[in-house]
Amino acid sequence: MRKKEPSKKVGEKEIVERLKKHFPNPRTELVFSNPFELLVVVVLSAQTTDVKVNQISPELFKRYPTPEAISKAPIEDLYEILKPINYYRKKAERIKEIGRIIAENYGGKVPDSIDELVKLPGVGRKTASVILVNAFNKPAIVVDTHVQRVSKRLGLTNNKDPLKIEKDLAGFFSEENWAYISNALVLFGRYVCKAKNPKCRECHLVDICPYDKKNL
Ligand code: SF4
Repeated sequence: MRKKEPSKKVGEKEIVERLKKHFPNPRTELVFSNPFELLVVVVLSAQTTDVKVNQISPELFKRYPTPEAISKAPIEDLYEILKPINYYRKKAERIKEIGRIIAENYGGKVPDSIDELVKLPGVGRKTASVILVNAFNKPAIVVDTHVQRVSKRLGLTNNKDPLKIEKDLAGFFSEENWAYISNALVLFGRYVCKAKNPKCRECHLVDICPYDKKNL
């Protein structure tokens, strides 16, 4: 069977304008005050909620405010602080190692390129893109589980592979909108176009959305 082509009728401008009605100024919901803190909280947020990470991160950064400090933290102490989140042992070891690499190889500064960021343990393209967009205000496309689902429903991609979806979105949206789209689609997927029971009745894109199982 021939694959359905992504919708060509609705343009970028229209989608961005409609999304802005939901999220005029979207940002990651993780709390951070510098690129290193963002890097750490994004790594900690895998398989757990942003809310939980935001609850434990102030204590973590109060005790260990720099990459070097985290790299030298007693691992038992990190376990204790991170205990409320999933996979805390592995994550404690990971942020300690990331702290060491940032301190030793990058002079204590988080690199602002995707190629360097993905060299860090536990940092894939998604995490790297979140950091580029939110810490450095650089154009990048974040493809997480929400963005995968929403892009498909909106007809912006037919692909399942995150890298291919990233390419589809990068082709559809102009670079000046990448950062906006990344944060907006994550929040749109989290709060409106949810996996189960999408809020189609409240959705500002309902009349342009080609998804055939709308929740009306
Ligand atoms: S109409 Fe429904 S399925 Fe389509 S984008 Fe909006 S919430 Fe998602």
